[in-house]
Amino acid sequence: MRECELLLERLNEIVDRPVRIMVACGIQNRVIMQNRLRERLPKGLTLVAGPGCSACVVPAGYIDVFVRIAVRPDVITASCKDVLSVPGSRESLASVAAKGARIVEIATPRDCLALAKANPNKIVVYPAVGFEASAPSVAEAVLEAAEQGIDNFCVIPSIRLLPPSIDQILRDPCLNIRGLLCSDHLTSISDTEAYTRLARKHSIACCVTGFELFDILRGLLSLAIQIRRGEASYDDQAAEYFSTEESERIRRLVSQVFFITDTLWRGLGIVIGSGFVIRDELALYDATKRFHIRFSEEDQLRGCACDKIISGKALPPDCPSFGMACTPEDPIGPCMITNEGICWSYFHFSSVVETE
Ligand code: SF4
Repeated sequence: MRECELLLERLNEIVDRPVRIMVACGIQNRVIMQNRLRERLPKGLTLVAGPGCSACVVPAGYIDVFVRIAVRPDVITASCKDVLSVPGSRESLASVAAKGARIVEIATPRDCLALAKANPNKIVVYPAVGFEASAPSVAEAVLEAAEQGIDNFCVIPSIRLLPPSIDQILRDPCLNIRGLLCSDHLTSISDTEAYTRLARKHSIACCVTGFELFDILRGLLSLAIQIRRGEASYDDQAAEYFSTEESERIRRLVSQVFFITDTLWRGLGIVIGSGFVIRDELALYDATKRFHIRFSEEDQLRGCACDKIISGKALPPDCPSFGMACTPEDPIGPCMITNEGICWSYFHFSSVVETE
């Protein structure tokens, strides 16, 4: 596309020294790989990945809880596809399903309500994995269940806010990240102030934009211009998804069900103010309270560098298992499982083995 070529030309003119930019969003990383963009960017411009793949940042200790609950005879686990194969410390939901645990793939949290009605002698449990954009649909399902008196449904809360995790990553001065590219679906609850604060606090350029190649190139150009001018500012190129009133309504809906607390992330440890927890008055719908289970801090997967990749310290070819012991058919870590994982994208779309 001619517009993309022009943006690439402009980028090549502007970037005249080494610059590292973090592309936080898994979908944007996939589009970059699909279009072999790294091969065409200015030599000094290095793109690293970030924590923007929701299944990738769920720690093994959380998956262990999903599994412990799934193997109960009184439980049906209703899960979205991406989560099924993510490994815990020993098992995944898919591996216990193969041994007889009842696990159903669903498209939306509301599907759990029909499942619960159809199976009154079972408890339908939904591992709610996602970033903030997934919180409203989970909140709606919980409120609808409460309204209809459906009490054999509950949620394992594992929804995360992205900006606090990026804040934690950027505290490492050795990373030398000068710019941050994010996508607009990661910003539906966080107001844009969160990204303005990140830019100021870490003296980086920041841009939120869409998923198309054109959007990504426009975003990278905005970052390159900001960096060259020595600016630490925030450029919002995102299409407005919601009106201000609708955004307010969504925030009210989410806060009826959840409050924000500190949460464990894969590779990042505890991130302050980054997780959604169900309010005490709706404790019946919180599976961890219902089954008296706590998350452990189990995190590391042997032979896997997902923790480093998620935090911008490595790229997939830096992992000794990439493409050898770890492939999409036989994955070791979560970044190779979902199509928002950067290892998955590298495996499918890279022709050049690239290291930093
Ligand atoms: S290639 Fe596999 S083992 Fe290596 S970081 Fe990626 S998911 Fe983990």
